[in-house]
Amino acid sequence: MFTKILIANRGEIACRVIKTARKMGILTVAVYSDADADSLHVTMADEAIHIGGSPSRESYLLSEKVIEAAKRTGAQAIHPGYGFLSENADFCRMCAKEGITFIGPPVAAIEAMGSKSAAKNIMEKANVPLVPGYHGDDQSEAVIKKAADDMGYPVLLKATAGGGGKGMRQVWNESEFSEGFAAAKREAKSSFGDDTMLVEKYLTQPRHVEIQVFCDNHQNAVYLFERDCSVQRRHQKVIEEAPAFSMSEELRAQMGESAIKSAQAIGYQGAGTVEFLLDIDGSFYFMEMNTRLQVEHPVTELITGQDLVEWQLRVAAGEILPKAQHELKINGHAFEARIYAEDPNNDFLPATGTLDFLQPPLESEFVRVDTGVRQGDEVSVFYDPMIAKLIVWDESREKALQRLAKALSEYRISGVTTNIDFLYNLATSAPFVNADIDTGFIEKNQAIIF
Ligand code: ADP
Repeated sequence: MFTKILIANRGEIACRVIKTARKMGILTVAVYSDADADSLHVTMADEAIHIGGSPSRESYLLSEKVIEAAKRTGAQAIHPGYGFLSENADFCRMCAKEGITFIGPPVAAIEAMGSKSAAKNIMEKANVPLVPGYHGDDQSEAVIKKAADDMGYPVLLKATAGGGGKGMRQVWNESEFSEGFAAAKREAKSSFGDDTMLVEKYLTQPRHVEIQVFCDNHQNAVYLFERDCSVQRRHQKVIEEAPAFSMSEELRAQMGESAIKSAQAIGYQGAGTVEFLLDIDGSFYFMEMNTRLQVEHPVTELITGQDLVEWQLRVAAGEILPKAQHELKINGHAFEARIYAEDPNNDFLPATGTLDFLQPPLESEFVRVDTGVRQGDEVSVFYDPMIAKLIVWDESREKALQRLAKALSEYRISGVTTNIDFLYNLATSAPFVNADIDTGFIEKNQAIIF
């Protein structure tokens, strides 16, 4: 096992990784920007190295600086967290060149999943079900439009380089195609510098159900069940839960096995998430694979009793998976709500300011708070304005939901506008309680949750 690792991230996920490393007796090195000089992850780590200015492109996105910090401190491995360098194949290659272990999948797996169309080609060959659509090389509007016309509207245009819901456009009928195509390409070009497009059948009431997988370097692969992340705003997750509601054991096993097939098709190692759309008729389709630890991993930890960061460290150090498939069981139900500094009454505009008063709910076996901030800290303009993740567990969905509502009602934050009231309204709304949920949930229920 490593004796010292560097965490190439900030905020709650840096703190989360440090906690597990500490538990395992591994020393930690934090890196930080100007704005984060006094932040919690810096205080928690055994050592901390300043790597640059506040904007992430001057610090957390600078591969060279991060690697230099690892070399200087003698860290044997780098945990990238999520975002920043976590899915950057060049960074992964640089680590290898310097003899530093990248705590994540092999470069080839990151690259294979880096393009949505390349990923679809691979999954098609591996017999993983795909949403009907076109993801070919011929990028002429006529060809892509013909594919849309043939499969019938509505369709969804997606940037193959896309992520975070950017470069996506629904097109409801033939006459809107040209305009939507141009708009999606423009957004893709400006967000990713690449306007290659694919088109898919737009499912009108799907659920987003994703499978947590883990593979080691000894041919073992398991799935740690599913998370339902259907509650989204602009294709960004708001509340996640595990297990997914109304899943038969049969469907669970089918999706789990498909996810493992997807991972094995690209020689995967480490933690990965295979995202599927689950249609109302029970068919499911591969969407993409995220080659990193997900924001919402704690709900999986709470229902399986496993520490996924520990699994990542063990696999990266060459150990075999801590558990075999038959040893993994679902216990109870968990929810995660993302507490954000943002204004739900003003189009969710990110909020900034000082956390003058901050009192999270009391933590227990039922309530967990993953955060990277303390009272008095600043929520700045430089980074994602997530303040914390509130994660709750109980024996049943109903009881866990009561825990969530209570914990949200106990959360006290002043100084910065937050989405806590919005989350409370959402979590206590009748359709949420009744699990009448698909990816259109927020839009459909605006009248009752705002
Ligand atoms: P990104 O990489 O930008 O996050 P994804 O391909 O993962 O994009 O899709 C994000 C979300 O968009 C999904 O969780 C789902 O809610 C919605 N979505 C994606 N593809 C479809 C589709 N074919 N039909 C309906 N909704 C979709």
